[in-house]
Amino acid sequence: MKIIGLTGGIGSGKTTVAYLFEALGAPIYIADIEAKKLTNRSKFIRKKLIALLGEEAFQEEGINRAFVAAKIFKDPILLQKVNAIIHPRVQQHFNRWAKKQDAPYCIKEAAVLFENGGYQKCDYTILVTAPKHLRIQRIQQRDASSEEAIKDRMDNQWPDSKKIPLADFVIENITLSKTKNRVEHIHKILLEV
Ligand code: ATP
Repeated sequence: MKIIGLTGGIGSGKTTVAYLFEALGAPIYIADIEAKKLTNRSKFIRKKLIALLGEEAFQEEGINRAFVAAKIFKDPILLQKVNAIIHPRVQQHFNRWAKKQDAPYCIKEAAVLFENGGYQKCDYTILVTAPKHLRIQRIQQRDASSEEAIKDRMDNQWPDSKKIPLADFVIENITLSKTKNRVEHIHKILLEV
């Protein structure tokens, strides 16, 4: 089965696009959701994260996201170490999941795909883009984050100009109707390649 990596900057609409592919019958794997589930249930990840960040990294319900986010925010080395603990387990979990799917292709949606070389494990890649002002507006409507906090997160990600040349398909997600048409078009291509 072909593996299609789907990515995009914060607020670009990559999850929305993933669900549009799902509606056409493609199995989808949302890496962020799976990473959260794995982090909360894996004793190994818990042990490693506590060793790295301290006991406060976990509460009874699971990972203490606010504490961990504050610790790794603006500390790229620590962020890299956290990723080195979590990402290989997510990759392993994804590989097992992908083997069980019965479809011509599946979609792996991940916030980071080009930055960490993950795209090399995909047969094709799709990048979702949108103008920055729209992305900020969407996130603010969804999370009530400040514009400054959103811009900080954007600055931590690669700009679209660096990702576009690496992507096989680009979906400019401005209006949902045009995005849906583009998804249908790419879906047809993916069934044929
Ligand atoms: P994040 O990086 O934060 O996970 P994302 O790239 O996955 O974001 P989504 O969660 O899909 O983006 O979209 C962000 C918000 O914008 C959501 O509330 C979604 O409903 C809305 N949205 C996405 N695409 C469009 C669109 N074309 N028109 C209007 N709203 C949209």
